[in-house]
Formats: sequence, structure tokens, C-alpha cells
Amino acid sequence: MEINLFSDTVTKPTPDMLQFMFKAKVGDDVFKQDPTVNELEETLADLFGKEAALFFPSGTMANQVAIKINTQPGDELICDKWAHVFLYEGGGAAFNSGVSCHLLDGTRGMITAEQVAAAINDPENIHLAKTSLVCIENTTNKGGGACYDFEELVKIKEICQQNNLKYHLDGARLWNALVAKKQHPKAYGELFDTISVCLSKGLGAPVGSVLIGSKEAIKKAMRVRKLFGGGMRQSGYLAAAGMYALQHHISRLEEDHKKAKDIAQLLTRMPWTDNVEPVETNIVIFTVKAPITPTQLMQKLKEKNIYISDMGQGKLRFVTHLDYKQVMHDYVLEAIERITF
Ligand SMILES: *Cc1c(COP(=O)(O)O)cnc(C)c1O
Repeated sequence: MEINLFSDTVTKPTPDMLQFMFKAKVGDDVFKQDPTVNELEETLADLFGKEAALFFPSGTMANQVAIKINTQPGDELICDKWAHVFLYEGGGAAFNSGVSCHLLDGTRGMITAEQVAAAINDPENIHLAKTSLVCIENTTNKGGGACYDFEELVKIKEICQQNNLKYHLDGARLWNALVAKKQHPKAYGELFDTISVCLSKGLGAPVGSVLIGSKEAIKKAMRVRKLFGGGMRQSGYLAAAGMYALQHHISRLEEDHKKAKDIAQLLTRMPWTDNVEPVETNIVIFTVKAPITPTQLMQKLKEKNIYISDMGQGKLRFVTHLDYKQVMHDYVLEAIERITF
């Protein structure tokens, strides 16, 4: 039995999800004739109280299209130094949109309204890039699944309004935040101009992200998605997986969060761990005590068929997910407890 806690992207469609996908009604989505894709887009737009939505092959593409439609070449966007849009999208903001990133030194991937306000360039000063967009990530990826306080997001929105900035949410793991904080998607819909959500992480669909926004924003996004090569044809089979996931795999995220908390609690008790970051959702980030190295610990786990990821700078990461069952969890806890150096 291989236990892959590398990421929540490793999940495979469940048999029920596959059955649901097989039965999907499909058409050519580039002509908006795929009923299942249309249904998924309408469902998500309604859920977030927005006018429209658009299905994408990846979260990266959804974010990159959002950056493109919310900026002009030469502009600057504001985000945390660990933001996925800056760090893990191949320099896409520069490549696709000609936009530079003004990085803020946030806490666990989260930035404050005060930091945002201080980072906005004076639009009258011709030496400076025009600030046009703020990108938020919730939950944070490199920040260890941390969730924003909603109040802070409201404050940042006020700064955006005062300064005529667009406000984008990279919600790849927003489902986890909604469940952990008992929040409603409509509250997010009211705040943000555009929101990307992922169907293939915690929710367990094989492929897909959705960008949600106003009719006008999504109309622009449809053009840019085509231009980026993301127009798909009978993608209803994939959208069906997303529909199934929305119906069956959201509330169970609590189980992933509980398992992550169990792992963190145990790690805290182990003599070979140094710092274990607080766990709010499904990600556990921790360091090991010198002279023990991350590689040594990963090797010991690998010998027990447990795989985790090395985040660099001495940080290691467990991510719990749909395919990480209770029997595996019991086995992992026991295995961790037995590790000695
Ligand atoms: C995974 C992730 C994405 C998108 O990833 P894809 O692999 O392109 O679907 C975007 N933002 C965050 C924070 C993520 O964790």
C-alpha cells in the first residue's frame, strides 16, 4: 500500500464519479454547446452569487486569464511573496500579461490591508508602474493551508475600491477555507471581481478549475482562454466530475482537516521535529531538528511507503485528501510514532 501525501492533486476519480462522468451529456463547448459544462458554470456562478463562470483545464490558466483581463501590459499587481500566481505559474504574469508583481512580506502567505495600501504606486507619478490588481490566495498553499480572517479581506476590498484596483481571489483551496471557517461562497462573491476555484484538489475531480465573475469579465475571459489554447470541445465529461464533486465531496473536507490536525499533533510530540506550523485545513508544514535532515526523514517515511513533499528551506509538507483513507491514517500515525534517529 503506497500512501501518497505529496499533494491533494494526487486523488483519482472514485468509481461513482467515473459512472457519473460516463453518463454526461456533451457538446462542443467552444461554441458553448456542452450542456454539462454550461450547467457547471451556472451552478458555480449561482453558488457565489455572480453572473457568470468559465471552465478551465487548470487553475494556473484560470489565474493567468484573470490577471490578463484585470490588467494592461506594464501594470503591477500586488500579492504575497509566496503567492502561487507569482511563484508557481512559470513567470506567467510577466509572460502572458506583461505585468510585474509587487511582492509583500505577509504572514503564512496572507497579506494585510495596511501592507496593500502602502504598496500602491501613486498613479500621478509617471516613473512608477500602474498598480491595477490585488491577488489574494485562500487558503494559502506555501503558507500551509492558512485561512484569512474575512474582516481583513473586507478591509483590502475597501483599499481596492478607494484606489480603483481589481481584486482577484486564487481560491484553488477555497473549499477548505469555507468548510474550516464555516463561511458562505456568496460572501466571497460579493467581495471579489474574479475568483478561481479548483475541482481537482480536495474535491477529487481529475481535471478542472472554474473562473467566476461578472458577465463582462467572463466574456473577456472566454476570448483569452481561447487565445491561451484552453478552449475545449466535449469537456462535459470533465465538467461532470466537477458537478459530482460539488455535490459529494465538499462537506467531507472536514475529515481531511481532522486527519491533518492528528498528524500535526503527533509530530509536535516527536523529539525529532522542530517547528510544526498551526493547522487550519489539510496541510501540515514542519521542520526537523538539526542535525537530522529533511531527506533523512523522507527516506524513513519512504521505507514505510509514505510519501511527503520537500518545500525547500528545510520545510516538509503532508497534505491530506480524499484518497487518504482512515486505515491509511491509522497506519501513518503508527509509523510516525515509531520513527527514531
Ligand atoms: C494548485 C494551485 C493552483 C493551480 O494549479 P494547477 O495545477 O494549475 O491546477 C493555483 N493556486 C494555488 C494556490 C494552488 O495551490
